[in-house]
Amino acid sequence: MRNVVIIGSGPAGYTAAIYTARANLSPLLIEGLQVGGQLSITTEVDNFPGFPEGVMGPELMEAMKKQAARFGAEFLPALVTNVDFSQRPFRLFTDDQTIEAESVIICCGASARMIGLESERKLVGYGVSTCATCDGYFFRGKQIVVVGGGDSAMEEATFLTKFASKVTIIHRRDKLRASKIMQDKAFKNSKIEFIWDTVVEDVQDVESKNVTGVKLRNVKTNEVRGFKCDGLFVAIGHDPNTQAFKGQIELDANGYIRTHDGTKTNVPGVFAAGDVQDHVYRQAISAAGSGCMAAIDAERYLETFDH
Ligand code: NAP
Repeated sequence: MRNVVIIGSGPAGYTAAIYTARANLSPLLIEGLQVGGQLSITTEVDNFPGFPEGVMGPELMEAMKKQAARFGAEFLPALVTNVDFSQRPFRLFTDDQTIEAESVIICCGASARMIGLESERKLVGYGVSTCATCDGYFFRGKQIVVVGGGDSAMEEATFLTKFASKVTIIHRRDKLRASKIMQDKAFKNSKIEFIWDTVVEDVQDVESKNVTGVKLRNVKTNEVRGFKCDGLFVAIGHDPNTQAFKGQIELDANGYIRTHDGTKTNVPGVFAAGDVQDHVYRQAISAAGSGCMAAIDAERYLETFDH
């Protein structure tokens, strides 16, 4: 039986582990499939405070893990596939274990949707990005392609015009899904161009580990052509990693965990932090901040809880 189990090993999870470990709660952190979360697959992180020269994503996550370990946090390399929050103690199920906990902090994050190309996967962090706030700065004076037709794509494209010389939005249909106000903003921006009814079929150049262009296909005419660019931003949405919690905890229409009064969920004793409950800010620093809040909320809950 654990005082507190943290699910997820991104900035929110590790920060929750640091705080709960320092509060003598001996936390267990279940790491999930991608140890270190989304930052473990990025390269340079320039916006995390405290690193004036920037820091590599995997290095930052390793440092957070070590810091949590220093105070006695334990780590389990496993994936939580199912939970039972209907009674106390809460039960968490992995492939081969059942773990009981008096409180749970869910920090499973969200996964950026990708187009699904091999070349795209290989170039993530080398010109392919899913976060304009994180990586836009590296594209000063460059030509960028943004894929998507929703609010995220409009927002990312508009933001990127602060840095890029030109931003081309590639959308698979001839109508945007984005809200009118976001569409108008993009249409009015002289640095933004649109290519309609078109999909990205390949990203060059995997060999040189650098984006030099994309292969485009018009879905109506099947015409294929090359298109030069220096960066590809994939903005086709995110999926919160909440599959294991469906039916156990309140989620919003898009599958994100609903929190109130800080990091509380609708189940007393279960807290949520980071991107799994935040589709607005999605930053490492905001996730870490909410991980700290969840740890303090869990600590206070355990103090009042009669156990
Ligand atoms: P979204 O609304 O689901 O839009 C995803 C877009 O990507 C759609 O245009 C979709 O095309 C396209 N797409 C999906 N899969 C694709 C694929 N495999 N290849 C090419 N294109 C693909 O996602 P979102 O833009 O991230 O927005 C999610 C939610 O957050 C929305 O409710 C949105 O309003 C909200 N949001 C709000 C703001 C804001 O207000 N500031 C900013 C960002 C997000 P189709 O249109 O053809 O389906």
